[in-house]
Parts: sequence; structure tokens; C-alpha cells
Amino acid sequence: MNESENKKKCKICNSECNAYPDYDKDKVFYTCPVCGRYELTADFAGNRINLNHLAAYLCHNKFAKKNFEYRYHTFLDKDICDTYKEKFNNGNKSNGLPVHIDAEIVENWYPKSFSERVDKILLYLSSQTKHIGQQVLLSYQEALSAFFIDRKELEEYSMYSPDWKERDSDECADELKYILDYLNDCNYIKHITCVDDEDSILISLLPDGYARVDELQKNTTVHGKNAFVAMQFGNETAVLREAIRKGITDAGYIAIFIDEVQHNDFITPEILKHIRDSKFVVVDLTQENRGAYFEEGYAMGLGKTVIQLCSTKTHLHFDIAQKNTIMWETENDIPEKLKNRIKATID
Ligand SMILES: [Zn+2]
Repeated sequence: MNESENKKKCKICNSECNAYPDYDKDKVFYTCPVCGRYELTADFAGNRINLNHLAAYLCHNKFAKKNFEYRYHTFLDKDICDTYKEKFNNGNKSNGLPVHIDAEIVENWYPKSFSERVDKILLYLSSQTKHIGQQVLLSYQEALSAFFIDRKELEEYSMYSPDWKERDSDECADELKYILDYLNDCNYIKHITCVDDEDSILISLLPDGYARVDELQKNTTVHGKNAFVAMQFGNETAVLREAIRKGITDAGYIAIFIDEVQHNDFITPEILKHIRDSKFVVVDLTQENRGAYFEEGYAMGLGKTVIQLCSTKTHLHFDIAQKNTIMWETENDIPEKLKNRIKATID
């Protein structure tokens, strides 16, 4: 069989793609320029999964690049994926590396609001370019998937045995144009229709678009690993600071001391931002520092977990003493106790 005999329409996005049936397993393996590599049972009808959301998910998370050579998406059970993976790692590469997807994974990932949708589109566009100002050429089908445009509609009363019909194609095109115009108006992108192929779109990110992408990427890398430390800074607390840093580092987090980030003692929007971006807050109340009390209150108001530390020599205010506090005799007690508390309450 030569390549051209395997040309088929992609089941998910309708692009032209390669499809290889595996009759033994009743499955078809697809390699689609928009959806990447994936596998479906031969009779796949999208049971219990939103096909519009699946199309967007595959496009944004596709395995197509060389470094993911053996990976592909599949609805196979997780257990079966695990056995294939084990065989793969032992040298049997015939099944590749299946990556399990299901309705829950797709729905958890799918944007819940318009602004989240816009953010994901910008991240996608930036992932498709290597250099600043480079243009991205999107086929019409890729644009529909990448921009979260529904292609299909559910027939009424068919939630439990889904019956999808194609959405009106003019409506899809209008929605795509609406979002392109919106991104244009925000100065995020510039777009033109291709001269030789009126279905393809050439897009370049503009400085405001790059700025938004930077902001989003900064938050995803910082998010989840930072621990803000509220305490009194100065020579008298230098040993304490390092003991706290060690406890946080040993637990696998990054300690953020505000005096290492900015150079004054006032509570500023910058401090509040660091607290918001932190996964949890550690506060030492030994010196009864007013700033530390304030920062603790702010973090609690945001619903962050706050871990309190205090020297046994300090008498705590009643309302704060009620909180379960790590009391320490000497700074040497801190790293181990703090690490254990983080492991127990945060991880
Ligand atoms: Zn596809």
C-alpha cells in the first residue's frame, strides 16, 4: 500500500490526513496535520464526548513534533496504556506510547470563559512561531480547532446517545472572523487571508500579544511552586531566615523573601501580587512585625494556606495563637518541622 491509498478525512476536524486501519484491534490510527497522531475504534461515534471540545483539545495538545515521535492520543483504558508503556520501555516499540484521553480530561482543560479562550489562542499562536514577528499560516480547519469554533451541533434530546450534525458552515466562518477581529482590535494580532488560498489565514502576533503571552507563561512557571515568607527582616533574623528557607526548599518549594525582590519595607502592590502568586504563605510572628500580620491576613482572605511559626519566647495574641502554630526553641528546630508541615498540609 502506498501513502496516497491511506489518505482519508480526519474524523475529528475533516482535514485530509493519513489513516491506517488495524483490523486485528478494530482501530484506526490517524496522522492529522491539525489533530496530530491519535487512534479511534473503527466504529467511533463520539460517545459521551463533546466532539467540538475534543477537536480543540487535540489541536492544542497534539503529538506531531519529532520529539514526541511515538506518542499518540487514545481512548484506551489507562491500564492498557500503562501495559503498552511498560512494553515500550522494555524495547517493544510496536504499539508506540499511547496517551490516555477521556471526556473528563478534555472538559477540565477546555476554557471556561471567553478570556481564557483568548489566552489559550495566544499561547497556541506563540507556540507555532520560533521568532518574533514570524507569521503563522493556519489552514481553515486548524483555525477552527485552535480558535475553539464548534463544527458540530448536538441534535436535541440526544445527550445520552449523541447524534451530531454539521453546523452551518457560514456560522462557523462568521464566528472565526469575529474572534480574529477581536484579537485585531486588542492589538494582539494582525491577520490577512492568504492570496493563493482564500481559506488559509496568515497571522502574526503584535507586541501586545507577546506581552500577554509573557505574562501567561510567567504565571504558569511561577504558579504552584512559590511560598511567600512574611517576617521581620534584618541582621537579628538572618539565621531564622535561612532556617525557614531550608524548610521550604527541602519540601520542594521556592521561598520568596520580599526584601530579595524589592528594596523597601512598605506594603506595595508588588508584595500583594507575590502573595497572590504563591501557593502558600509562611509567617514568622516572633518579632510581632506589623507587616507580617497584615500579609498573613491578606493571604488568609485569599483563602491561601498560612503556616505560622513562632519562638516559644514570644507570647502570641489570642486570636492568632488559636491557629495551629509551629513553636520553635531554636532556629535548628525549624527546617524539619516546617518541611513536615508543608508535606502534610500543602502537597
Ligand atoms: Zn484532524
